[in-house]
Amino acid sequence: MNRSAKGICIIYIGNGKGKTTAALGLACRCIGQGGSVCICQFLKSDKTTGEAKFFSDMPSSEIHVLGRGFVTDSLSQKEREKHCQAACDAVKLLEEKLLSARYRLVIADELLDAVALGFVDVDTVVRLQSNLSPGTTLVITGRTATQSILDQADTVTEMKEVKHHYQKGIKAVRGIEY
Ligand code: ATP
Ligand code: MG
Repeated sequence: MNRSAKGICIIYIGNGKGKTTAALGLACRCIGQGGSVCICQFLKSDKTTGEAKFFSDMPSSEIHVLGRGFVTDSLSQKEREKHCQAACDAVKLLEEKLLSARYRLVIADELLDAVALGFVDVDTVVRLQSNLSPGTTLVITGRTATQSILDQADTVTEMKEVKHHYQKGIKAVRGIEY
């Protein structure tokens, strides 16, 4: 497969549904073209999602579910520290994976939300974005980002909510949301 001379950073951002879905769509495309993929999921702890089952069984891909469960507004200091440590460990793994240059595509799913929650430094993300190996594409997702992270990206696409079935009372649907 032809590889980009420079690493590329793509960001999917916004309050609409489709950010993780788009990142996983790229993973399918990349594997289909013979590339290898590493998916790191920040903040999530569910290892039984459709994507966790699918990409852990798929040759040429690996998926790491690196969170400590749902982050609520009313975290105790101790719980917050646990989430923070998990995000810190996840960043270390992400950096190792990027430095290995073994992957055509690396996905840092919900990394931006880990930054927004104060678990990961903005500067750490900017450093990872600016040190991409040639031929590696890094995809980062999340609801919001700081300007410095957006400036460092090569492609930014916003998923804008027009409506969501959740507003009709339809809760997370297996195979569609997870
Ligand atoms: P998906 O994983 O479906 O691509 P996403 O990555 O864009 O969604 P997240 O911000 O990661 O969305 O939120 C995770 C969950 O919240 C998903 O189950 C998604 O369907 C749901 N969700 C996304 N956008 C909205 C919204 N505007 N209102 C309610 N729920 C939403
Ligand atoms: Mg998501």
